[in-house]
Amino acid sequence: MRIQEALQKGSLELKHCGIENPGLDARYLLEWILECNHSYVLLHPEQELSVNQEHRYQEAIEKRTKHLPVQYIIGEQEFMGYTFHVDENVLIPRQDTEILVEEALKRMDAESSDEGRKITVLDLCCGSGCIGISIKKLRPETDVTLTDISEAAIRVAEKNAGSLQADVKICQGDLFEGVQEKKYRFLLSNPPYIPSRVVDTLMPEVREYEPRLALDGAGDGLVFYRRIAKEAPKFLEDEGYVLFEIGFDQAEDVRKILVDAGFEQIQVRQDYAGLDRVVIGRKTAE
Ligand code: GLN
Repeated sequence: MRIQEALQKGSLELKHCGIENPGLDARYLLEWILECNHSYVLLHPEQELSVNQEHRYQEAIEKRTKHLPVQYIIGEQEFMGYTFHVDENVLIPRQDTEILVEEALKRMDAESSDEGRKITVLDLCCGSGCIGISIKKLRPETDVTLTDISEAAIRVAEKNAGSLQADVKICQGDLFEGVQEKKYRFLLSNPPYIPSRVVDTLMPEVREYEPRLALDGAGDGLVFYRRIAKEAPKFLEDEGYVLFEIGFDQAEDVRKILVDAGFEQIQVRQDYAGLDRVVIGRKTAE
């Protein structure tokens, strides 16, 4: 089979199974199998696939027809310009989460200029490690700790720290459980925040393949914000920051949770679609 045919055939199969961007996904899978980029595929439509490549491509297309996300098939996702290894034990990093990282970086840069000491960062519910590891890569002078309740997620985060050569601490535990009781300047978290009953209504890619543990924020979706906000002051320096990723309709609830826990200077940031996506608070100085 030639490249052009493979793309057409794959795309058609995906389309029949209700995949949203069949052409794009077929191309990503083929590029992954051929270990080439987009322009190569465009410039060599007549190139024949080897028997092995054709077989592997067919297998990948079949997985995608069952709604397995492309990222789990190819085993990676880009985040903040870095390639993160992913499997079904971790949430696939989302572009919207980059906003949380950018908001944290802005505040770190303002801090380091006037103090010059190591900024401590804690990434709770780290999953693949995309938040904490990107921060360490982009601001190597930080001291970053990541934690997650899932042992399998911790293994993925460790693999990413290794492949990206990020010198971070990674520990397993329920929220702050595995974390040393020291004071952090920044607490970052994209916790599970989808109300339980909503999880089952999400697209099959998410509800059937992404880890429920990483998505389900229990009854009203806010349980982790409440738990984190309650304990956070103990782990934060005075005037330290908490930055949460939130669901599009949770800004007011999370603002209130933070205010009730004693945080001030609450700010809300929107994502690329204009929806509320990040809430930031600052611990009151004692
Ligand atoms: N911190 C990871 C991410 O943003 C995982 C989040 C989670 O598992 N809820 O992708």
